[in-house]
Amino acid sequence: SKTAYVRTKPHLNIGTMGHVDHGKTTLTAAITKVLAERGAGTFVPFDRIDRAPEEAARGITINIAHVEYETDTRHYAHVDMPGHADYVKNMVTGAAQLDGAILVVSALDGIMPQTAEHVLLARQVGVDHIVVALNKADGAADEELIDLVELEVRDLLTAQGYAGDAVPVVRVSGLRALAGDPRWTASVEALLDAVDTYVPTPERYLDAPFLMPVENVLTITGRGTVVTGAVERGTLVPGDRVAVLGADGVETVVTGLETFGKPMRQAQAGDNVAVLLRGVPRDAVRRGHVVAAPGSVVPARRFRARVYVLSGREGGRTTPIATGYRPQFYIRTADVVGDVDLGAVAVARPGETVEMTVELGREVPLEPGLGFAVREGGRTVGAGTVVSVGS
Ligand code: GDP
Ligand code: MG
Repeated sequence: SKTAYVRTKPHLNIGTMGHVDHGKTTLTAAITKVLAERGAGTFVPFDRIDRAPEEAARGITINIAHVEYETDTRHYAHVDMPGHADYVKNMVTGAAQLDGAILVVSALDGIMPQTAEHVLLARQVGVDHIVVALNKADGAADEELIDLVELEVRDLLTAQGYAGDAVPVVRVSGLRALAGDPRWTASVEALLDAVDTYVPTPERYLDAPFLMPVENVLTITGRGTVVTGAVERGTLVPGDRVAVLGADGVETVVTGLETFGKPMRQAQAGDNVAVLLRGVPRDAVRRGHVVAAPGSVVPARRFRARVYVLSGREGGRTTPIATGYRPQFYIRTADVVGDVDLGAVAVARPGETVEMTVELGREVPLEPGLGFAVREGGRTVGAGTVVSVGS
């Protein structure tokens, strides 16, 4: 039987980002070590984080490690990724919806190209709060050099629209903290305090209007049409009104809820549920439709998106895409054809990230920040995020 997760503290998703070798994985391990010593979690050694299993999110392979820990005030799920391409793919598809990020910058090297690119990506996908870890502070010959790196990082953040002057910048040494050096374990504690206080608790998905992408449709003889799926956000109880988007926006009432064959009083974000809908004919709803609180989402055909075109090595195309390209768009559970317009850029090569306008073959509920995959002949060739909806 399943033990319920007991929610005693607010939960946040965070992650380390920054240039390769600046110490993201070492710092992640050090955080778990420092907290484990406080009795608030399990130590996860470097090797277990760095050799994270591959995950398929929307058909795109991403190397991603998830570690979990608690501070005095919060429960965190923390992601760390080994390679730059993993960050790009993960952030553009929103595979890990980050509530905040720890930007790791080596105090010895300063800002490097991937530092700047991750900050840009974070801004574009709506990560509003960044805390900076100036790592490898143990190796810096003098504090003035670190002061210069700090200024440089603040300027970069300001240039990207963050509150560069207000962002906490904490000098740490993941390596020395991992070795148990008290001066540097204290630095990791200070970093966690900064995350606790600077990254606000997000509006929980539980508080948002209900939304569930339809994965399957079944008929229960004598009871009616049932749709199944994972609740993306919000809560639902029998008696609630919902709109079925994709099916001309039919509105109906939920007459029953089940999870794994057992009736439930309330479904909430994250649950896998079967929803019984009153008076909806079976053929009026299908996979790809969305069941949502009436009026909470608007279906549209046209949107702007930022898309990473997978390289040939990643299983993507070996030739560029151009305006007029007509692939399939996998948006939530929907699979819809769409016309791509690259505007002035005109072509995008594998391995590049581009902005495009997409005109879908039919209306789908869309909103900024929504991730999707681009597929062609059954394989994924791109990973994208909706930037804006409409023309
Ligand atoms: P990542 O690619 O950002 O995940 O970086 P890693 O965590 O793999 O670290 C890259 C290298 O920097 C490794 O050799 C680490 O031992 C070293 N390193 C990481 N953190 C520190 C630190 O705080 N101080 C020093 N001196 N070296 C560090
Ligand atoms: Mg790493």
